[in-house]
Amino acid sequence: MHHNLPGVVLASLLAAAQASRAQTLSPAEKRLVQSVEARLGEEMAALEKVVNVDSGTFNTEGVREVGRFFEKELQALGFKTRWIPMPEAMHRGGHLVAERVAAKPSGKRVLLIGHLDTVFEGQGHRFQNDGAVIRGAGVMDMKGGDVVILFALKALESAGMLEGATVRVFLTGDEENPGLPTSESRRDIVAVAKESDVAISFEPDTPGGTIVVGRRGLSTWSLDVTGAQGHSAYVLRPRSGAGAVYEASRILDGFRGAFSAGNVTVNPGLVLGGTDVAYDTTKSAGTSAGKYNVVSKAVTVKGDLRALDEPEREAAKARMREIAAANLPKTSAKLEFDDIVPGWPITEGNRSVLKTIDTVSRALGQPPLTEADPVSRGFGDSNFVGGLLSAADGLGVKGDGIHSPGESLDPKSLGPATLRAALLIGRLLHPAN
Ligand SMILES: [Zn+2]
Repeated sequence: MHHNLPGVVLASLLAAAQASRAQTLSPAEKRLVQSVEARLGEEMAALEKVVNVDSGTFNTEGVREVGRFFEKELQALGFKTRWIPMPEAMHRGGHLVAERVAAKPSGKRVLLIGHLDTVFEGQGHRFQNDGAVIRGAGVMDMKGGDVVILFALKALESAGMLEGATVRVFLTGDEENPGLPTSESRRDIVAVAKESDVAISFEPDTPGGTIVVGRRGLSTWSLDVTGAQGHSAYVLRPRSGAGAVYEASRILDGFRGAFSAGNVTVNPGLVLGGTDVAYDTTKSAGTSAGKYNVVSKAVTVKGDLRALDEPEREAAKARMREIAAANLPKTSAKLEFDDIVPGWPITEGNRSVLKTIDTVSRALGQPPLTEADPVSRGFGDSNFVGGLLSAADGLGVKGDGIHSPGESLDPKSLGPATLRAALLIGRLLHPAN
């Protein structure tokens, strides 16, 4: 790129860049940088170790084994740890909590969020480093993010910066498929968030230099439509009415018209219709029966609704109920909602955390960072705490193929992500430095 620049000009440009980076880092921060860089080999080895333990969400023993690795490491850094089991019937591994609590913390009380489980079960997805990319189950989402947390904390501990500070680490065992009800599986992370000022989550880094400071929540809905079963010769005539299939189609088309733009999305994911339908919740599957010459009696639709905050979610529900209530002749419809994940609206507090992250990124000579579109992703664990404190997400590693068997990590992103995390946490814990 610089082939047309004389070597001496290039050298002085580099020196200038280093000087400006050096000016924005305090002596303590320069020690943090050295400390992170000195442990990069150890960090990669830790990642290999945890990626090679299968820990799909339903592999409760594997989730606990990954948890034990982080538990031991965090104890060595002076953290008090506890394991939070989930009820047997939930079939989830539980969560790891690690805390260092100061009587009078010098800065913000910081909560660091990761997860121990992966979407894929792991078999056949061993840690594989071919130099340019690293493959393996959860290597990016988010065992990579978990080791970023751990090695940022190691650097802070070496620099004495965990003294007089309050830091909590919460690693959930079921982020990819939260145990239901979430009021139970997320009760403890909510309690820990109430004792914290800022939450930073280490889900994979979004492409394009953005940080997540808001995400939509999730409700599921179920639509059950009933029609008058009768001879098809009289469909849409007074004698037979519209039937359940026409009525369900009208309602779904109404949803399509109402939610084709804006933050809220409404998705019908499954439809069963005919004279008889049966749906099995545990399998997300069902059967239906019907004949061309019989006006349909029943339709069941299963779908989701995503919205940024509670007012938006409630307004969407009201609009959907209104559409469902305007029934065609001889039909009726029942629409029910289940709120699974709260919305995480963007706040000024979140934006100020983003500002600190952006400042740290530039000070390290990394790219400037802006706000990610809150509609661009699904939900994460930060949704459950986002309403209680200032929060940001997407501080993990970069890679490709998230939630696919080919998930990969860009190994060049591990060091920069860890440096960024160490400096960010340092500035939150010790704003005066
Ligand atoms: Zn994740």
